[in-house]
Amino acid sequence: MYALVDCNNFYTSCEKVFSPALEKKPIVVLSNNDGCVISRSEEAKQIGIRMGAPAHMIEDLIKTNQVNVFSSNYTLYGDMSDRVMKTLSAFVPRMEIYSIDEAFLDMHGLPQGDLLKLAFTIRRTIGQNTGIPVCVGVAPTKTLAKMANRYAKKMHREAGVFWAANQRLVEEMLRYTDVRDVWGIGHQHSRILKANGFNTAFDLTRAPDDWVRQHLAVVGLRLVNELRGIQALGLEEEQPAKKNICTSRSFGKIITDKNLVKEAISNYAASCAAKLSGQQELAKQLRVFVQTNPFRAQDLQYFRSIIVQLPLATASALDIIRYALKGFEIVYRDGFNYHKGGVELSDFVPADAVQLNLFAGENKKQQKAMAAVEGLNKSLGKETVKVGIQGFAKSYKMRAGMLSPKYTTKLADVITIKH
Ligand SMILES: [Mg+2]
Repeated sequence: MYALVDCNNFYTSCEKVFSPALEKKPIVVLSNNDGCVISRSEEAKQIGIRMGAPAHMIEDLIKTNQVNVFSSNYTLYGDMSDRVMKTLSAFVPRMEIYSIDEAFLDMHGLPQGDLLKLAFTIRRTIGQNTGIPVCVGVAPTKTLAKMANRYAKKMHREAGVFWAANQRLVEEMLRYTDVRDVWGIGHQHSRILKANGFNTAFDLTRAPDDWVRQHLAVVGLRLVNELRGIQALGLEEEQPAKKNICTSRSFGKIITDKNLVKEAISNYAASCAAKLSGQQELAKQLRVFVQTNPFRAQDLQYFRSIIVQLPLATASALDIIRYALKGFEIVYRDGFNYHKGGVELSDFVPADAVQLNLFAGENKKQQKAMAAVEGLNKSLGKETVKVGIQGFAKSYKMRAGMLSPKYTTKLADVITIKH
């Protein structure tokens, strides 16, 4: 079983945490340069503001409905994301950060009877620790977990949790889901599927393998198998055959000092980057783990492994170290006798074949595109890449006219309580 935990309306939810007066109000967050809508509160959705709408096209809607508009505050969202991920990492030994506001949790080996209870506990704890509302979908494969999350959001909004615990529940969810909304089915494929009478995810599970292979290729067949409940996508450590670069060592002695473990992880990351640099490839995925010594029976045992999907494929040692340390900060806990750690790179793409398809994303994939653009701009200089609609006038300065304070990372912006 896997769980997919996804923050609801993440950016607007972050804004709400620090301005309780925004509760129940329509809020939108705009992309860089205050270009288009990239996050909407439920209330903003209800008054008909579309995802991706250019800000200047909805000025009237904003005025008549008194919509609260924010520039994107990535420092705040990044920090809140780290808090969510850190809280999640306490629940399972293995997780994968899939995007800034989503993570897969590996539920294998946990008592099956308690999964629903666990899902509720996760949702409640994230709410308590961070103020961010999340939905949790639990199902036998990653693709189904992604669907279960969406189903929770649509059909079990109040509970915020859905566990596809048996075939009947899996089927109920499959029948409800349009093929267009299946994780991994793009626009092109959903058109082909519909033209051939496959309208729901359930229909797709009934498609003959040969047909799927012919029209959706091998990747499509894997996806269909996932929908059938046959696991085809694991977290990285379950696919030993997959090519990867790993640097992992015992520390030689017990380490209890966080800075020393951190130093080791940085070095392992640098060593992975060095190994990668020889092969004209970029990595899209990184895993970090830390563990105690299972042979020291007198020690409290701890193992945590985390996968981080890199927003942009990279071979840069700086990036690799930075993301490895991000993962490290999430999985590390004080109070254990650490014995071993490691960093592993995987999911390689040829360096010259990286696609920067800014508009491939179907609606919410936009966030990822923006992250990619940010990454590029960070490494190549501000505004090297930007979205055409932003225009070129005044491009020397980034507009962020409605930026909220950096509540969590800048001392002067920390919230004060009146007394
Ligand atoms: Mg989300």
